[in-house]
Amino acid sequence: MKYVILIGDGMADYPLPERGNRTALQIASTPNLDFIATGGRCGLVRTIPEGMHAGSDIATLSILGYDPAKYHTGRGPLEAMAMRMPLNEGDIAFRCNLITENEGIIEDFSGGHITTAEAKALIAALNEEFSDKFVEQGWELTFYAGVSYRNILVIKSRSNDLKFREGKEIGGAPPHDIVGEPIEEYLPKEDILRDVMLASKEVLDAHEVNRKRQARNEKKANMVWLWSGGRKPVMPSFSELYGVQGSVISGVDLIKGIGRCVGLDAIDVPGATGYFDTNYKGKADYALRSLAGNDFVLVHVEAPDEAGHLRDIDLKVKAIEDFDALVVGTVLKGLEAEFADAEEGYRILVMPDHYTPVSVGTHTKEPVPFAIYNSRARSEQKRVGGFDEQFARKSTVGVLDARAQELMRLFFIYQ
Ligand SMILES: [Zn+2]
Repeated sequence: MKYVILIGDGMADYPLPERGNRTALQIASTPNLDFIATGGRCGLVRTIPEGMHAGSDIATLSILGYDPAKYHTGRGPLEAMAMRMPLNEGDIAFRCNLITENEGIIEDFSGGHITTAEAKALIAALNEEFSDKFVEQGWELTFYAGVSYRNILVIKSRSNDLKFREGKEIGGAPPHDIVGEPIEEYLPKEDILRDVMLASKEVLDAHEVNRKRQARNEKKANMVWLWSGGRKPVMPSFSELYGVQGSVISGVDLIKGIGRCVGLDAIDVPGATGYFDTNYKGKADYALRSLAGNDFVLVHVEAPDEAGHLRDIDLKVKAIEDFDALVVGTVLKGLEAEFADAEEGYRILVMPDHYTPVSVGTHTKEPVPFAIYNSRARSEQKRVGGFDEQFARKSTVGVLDARAQELMRLFFIYQ
């Protein structure tokens, strides 16, 4: 049996009065998602446990049946795993945003969406300045360049008595939640982190990259913001839990990192950007190719979420329609051609990971719709409707709890 999970990040939404009280999924033309929902089983699933923040990392861990309360140690270590960084026990990996600081206020969490090339030069300057700076205090610091403002700092302690507090999400508040706020109020408690963050301004503010950005009237990326730090997560492998080998495909490090942490291959698809210009079709083609040797693949598409954050319903509908046609459509056609007549057949699960309502502009925690299609259990009786929040709410399955593996059990086991 071939198993495929297709996630459209943040696709779920609220009915919009100005659009006839329809949601983005209801407005979008999605023949392939509708085929799966009306020919398969669908329902609602809780992906964000009570008391946890509605992040894609939390949601994706839950979807795969890993309780985030037990296994999530922070965004930093997951992204570090995606970037194949050697994380030893005791090392702490932090998400390191390059931000714009202005007179003690966070002006922009993305450093004016600095380019990856510019960020690389600033990261090199930070390593030059900091790699030895705190050695006497027993800390070894290494900055790693990522994509645009999203970078990583790994802190190693050189002496046993120098340790970060146990637990997770070490560091400052998520910078995108505190734009316009005074820095002083949100700096982390740990001295080493405060020292690095405040000292980074001296290295970056007058750097040539920022002088040129200022000359072009672009925002400076003149300070680092360290947040969501933690140790390397230790999790049982996906094949241990479900008996299948496989891979993940995403333009987002967070999802690739989760895949690596549970022993799945993270396949790099050329042109996968995690944005509206991503290589949708390429992702689908690589996914189908990966099933020649494996039985499982997860494909994650970020674009609908980005549109939700931009509060742009037309962009969101377009992203959902591209996801449906170029990813879901291509995969369905390929599975039908390759595996429909095979002994075992295939199963496909489609869903968002969480809501990113355009009326809110950020993630919310309601249970999301899902649909599972099993080529071995085709029902002639197609139900009227399509893949959306309302149709799923009416289903018989009810609300599942993802972190308790209720969704994975339904996916891997139900007849
Ligand atoms: Zn997400």
